[in-house]
Amino acid sequence: MDEQRSRYQGVCERITQAVLQAGRPTHSVKLLAVSKTFPADQVAAVAALGQRDFGENYVQEGVDKIVALNSVAGLVWHCIGPLQSNKTRLVAEHFDWVHSVERLKIAQRLSEQRPAHLPPLQVCLQVNIDGGPTKAGVAPADALALAQAVAALPRLVLRGVMTIPDAADGFDAQLAVHTQAKRLFDELQTALGLPHFDTLSMGMSADLEAAVQAGSTLVRVGTAVFGAR
Ligand SMILES: *Cc1c(COP(=O)(O)O)cnc(C)c1O
Repeated sequence: MDEQRSRYQGVCERITQAVLQAGRPTHSVKLLAVSKTFPADQVAAVAALGQRDFGENYVQEGVDKIVALNSVAGLVWHCIGPLQSNKTRLVAEHFDWVHSVERLKIAQRLSEQRPAHLPPLQVCLQVNIDGGPTKAGVAPADALALAQAVAALPRLVLRGVMTIPDAADGFDAQLAVHTQAKRLFDELQTALGLPHFDTLSMGMSADLEAAVQAGSTLVRVGTAVFGAR
């Protein structure tokens, strides 16, 4: 019956172990529970275990859950999926974070559409760290220019970088690509000098240990928290 609890605790333990293994400070890595395709009552069950941050890929599905779980205090909602212009208003009105900003035009719309009564939207730039031309994300070489433009928008706070590298086989290969992302993150942090640029969103169910070793500050975990989709 408490499969949900043991899956959740298992993920929390994996993160704790990975942080220890990497010699990093306790609580330096946040868990984002990726709830896409799972119903609101299962999200509520994970929230009841103490989880606060949830990630959704599909805007309308995410908004439906945000509305359904409105009475659960303290939840933080992250949009982590591809974002089209016609969905920016819904995102700006409902989510707390967006990890998948890859174009200035989308960022401008999010800033313009962020309601005045809400705090600024927290955003990460999605960077195409392993470089496939068909993959989402800004090219690493263009990341600084985009970051500077996004940071200047009034209703957004630029928090960092998000990556979704192709699945790599084995810890060493995973570590190599995550280390590239960490290097880019550090370069941007130095070049930008922004006080809130503190988030490196990388690592999922299959590679969170390597991501934490490389310096991830937020792992996005779906399957290992909620079960198979
Ligand atoms: C689905 C998804 C995840 C979680 O993937 P799992 O392998 O289920 O942990 C993380 N990030 C993004 C962007 C996703 O779409």
